[in-house]
Amino acid sequence: MIAFIDTEVNPQTRKVEDYGALREDGALLHSHSKSDFDAFVSECDSVCGHNIIRHDLKYTALRGNPTIIDTLFLSPLLFPKRPYHHLVKDDKLQVDELNNPANDAMKARDLLNDEIASWHQLSPDRQEIYYQLLHNKPEFEGFFKYVGYSSALRPSFLGRILRPQSDWKQLMVKEFVGKVCQHSDLDTLVRQYPIELAYCLAVIGADDIFSITPAWVTRNYPQVVNVMKMLRDTSCGDCDYCLQRLDAHSGLREFFGYDEFRTFDGVPMQQQAVESAIRGESLLTIFPTGGGKTIASMSFALHHAMRNNMDRIIYVIPYTSIIEQNAAIFRDIFGEDNVVEHHSNASFEVREETRRHGNESGDAPEQYRNIRATENWDAPVIVTTAVQFFESL
Ligand SMILES: [Zn+2]
Repeated sequence: MIAFIDTEVNPQTRKVEDYGALREDGALLHSHSKSDFDAFVSECDSVCGHNIIRHDLKYTALRGNPTIIDTLFLSPLLFPKRPYHHLVKDDKLQVDELNNPANDAMKARDLLNDEIASWHQLSPDRQEIYYQLLHNKPEFEGFFKYVGYSSALRPSFLGRILRPQSDWKQLMVKEFVGKVCQHSDLDTLVRQYPIELAYCLAVIGADDIFSITPAWVTRNYPQVVNVMKMLRDTSCGDCDYCLQRLDAHSGLREFFGYDEFRTFDGVPMQQQAVESAIRGESLLTIFPTGGGKTIASMSFALHHAMRNNMDRIIYVIPYTSIIEQNAAIFRDIFGEDNVVEHHSNASFEVREETRRHGNESGDAPEQYRNIRATENWDAPVIVTTAVQFFESL
């Protein structure tokens, strides 16, 4: 039998003040008593909750040796696509009642049920890849045990000696062909960063440019950023992915509809700048007026954002007169709603008024949108000055 649990821990005393638990048989517990809680879960061979491995279980010495399932670590893997899962907001469970652990335990049950459903929708190859990467990691092993998954691959005895693990890495190459560099050093990534690799593959496999790795994942597994860079942003110069996705021309066509970069006195300055930026070099380029710096810089930024599953481009330039020109070009290309200009010239006169009274003062919808957007930087492209940028951080 499985029990879903949640605890309220007093941050000062670091002691549990309130226990909530829900059993598979429908019984529900909400109690301050540790012995009530222990008795309630004593018959259970599996225990599940949200963020229990790093939180609740530290304060709750569970008896026996139940299988532990943590819905937190599973959610980026099984809901990698925006809008993700409605019960999860970054690393927290969305609840309708604060400080009610019994209610949170019910939400954990709903989340696990959805995670299991999502697991069964994955292709057998994807299941095998995740299993191979994660089945011996404490954050995940309980889940595989609970859903009863065991490897579909049964290598021959000789195969185990001659080509250990080679089969399932081929699955990875096949599953993500055209989405990652085919010459990525998977051996190293599998050995050193299996969890980070699984999270990156989940986002890449979501096939959605608007999906990004949740902030708590990057905080807890900071190497995710480098793994993503190794998979998608380091050109081998020799595979289909790198030739297409890491090619300055393909971006120019895809984003702006031009076949060729502009040349200046016969020199393809735009192309040279974009290519060195794609290679990850630091660069200083001095463009003459009309050299095409607006498009070149945005072309690089889009490349970089897409390959690294980033959410927003912040375009920082010094002079407000240039900002206005550039922002106008970006609005032409990306549409009015997708570009927010934020600097001293783009001031909105009713700002204070609107902040106090919402939109009841009758601002034009356009004006109100600008006010909200500059407060939250709520658009894919933000064009701003260095001064405003540092003030907004
Ligand atoms: Zn490559």
